[in-house]
Amino acid sequence: GQRLARVDGDTFALLLCDLQGDLNQASAEAARTIERLLAVIAEPLEVQGQVLHLSAGAGVVMIPNDSRDAPELLREAETAMHRAKDAGDSRVYFFAHALQEAASERLALRSDLRRALEAKPAPLLLHYQPQVDSQGRLAGVEALVRWHDPRRGLVSPVQFIPEAEASGLIVPLGNWVLEEAATTLHRWQNDPACAAWATKLTMAVNVSARQFREADFISRIESLIARVGIAAFSLELELTESVLVDDLEATLEKMAQLRSHGVRFALDDFGTGYSSLAYLKRLPVSRLKIDRSFVRDLCEDRDDAAIVASIIGLARSLALEVVAEGVETAPQLVALRGEGCLLCQGYLFSKPRPVEE
Ligand code: C2E
Ligand code: MG
Ligand code: MG
Repeated sequence: GQRLARVDGDTFALLLCDLQGDLNQASAEAARTIERLLAVIAEPLEVQGQVLHLSAGAGVVMIPNDSRDAPELLREAETAMHRAKDAGDSRVYFFAHALQEAASERLALRSDLRRALEAKPAPLLLHYQPQVDSQGRLAGVEALVRWHDPRRGLVSPVQFIPEAEASGLIVPLGNWVLEEAATTLHRWQNDPACAAWATKLTMAVNVSARQFREADFISRIESLIARVGIAAFSLELELTESVLVDDLEATLEKMAQLRSHGVRFALDDFGTGYSSLAYLKRLPVSRLKIDRSFVRDLCEDRDDAAIVASIIGLARSLALEVVAEGVETAPQLVALRGEGCLLCQGYLFSKPRPVEE
């Protein structure tokens, strides 16, 4: 229902109508729509045996905020688009908020990450963070990726996952993570020294929406489980609400298919996304993970305490398990257990640790 026109050369104009809400909400909706479009353009394209990585930048003007005059709007959009192009790849710039980006550093990060993924062995590693049950026993671990870059040191996923998502590198990166996490779980479960705690261990792996939407995602998971030799129910895929943003039916179908093979799902960072509660009852998830932003001030902030209690109550009513993230203090743990949250994860128990630890 949008209008797309070629202005000239490699310049196109897209008219988004029917944006909802105030200027801020409408801008956010426009940005999300454009980011999805840019993500599709950024998908690697094979032409005559060559893999091409295309990118596009977008300049955005809001009507009538920026102007009401069509030629002026086009000029402003073009100015913003040039900023987006200068910044490198797949960027959305609003004319009205000319953001200053460290463009060259971001570009360098992406190309270094691309090189890292091509290297054998890749300079990536997983840290594992325990999830603890109400008796303080190890119930599972979450695999969290790190990148060891010679120049930057150990790079946090907070820095490179968003870049990997915007550039499409998240797909090979995510595949590497799945492979490594499954292999580690298999090794633990088959080592007599680890059997006491590893046999019933759940391995939680974060999966990006972009990665989940790949056409071969289901077959990849199925073949991984069969090849590495782990039980499907010991693998838990952590999705965020962003996976629900488009094509809900296809997402539900994909999740149901994996679920029928025994693979479990957790909804990560619950409460911070855009999903409607109506989705929740249709999703084949087994767990909600309470985002750590709600846990942080749980004992000081009445609103956060109310949100946490509500999520736990909601989970109980829907017969879902609930895991609290970012539990750092004993009072937080007492409050969470008091509300009936049995599974906890956080620095109080352990930071994410390298495999040998
Ligand atoms: P997440 O999945 O919500 O992971 C939890 C993050 O909270 C981790 O940060 C963890 O180190 C941190 N954390 C755990 N307990 C505490 C605590 O008590 N206090 C505080 N302040 N922080 C705590 P990390 O490892 O930096 O990962 C950040 C995010 O990066 C993850 O958030 C996840 O969204 C993403 N990520 C990490 N690994 C992967 C991956 O393999 N694939 C994808 N797609 N995303 C990943
Ligand atoms: Mg997670
Ligand atoms: Mg989380």
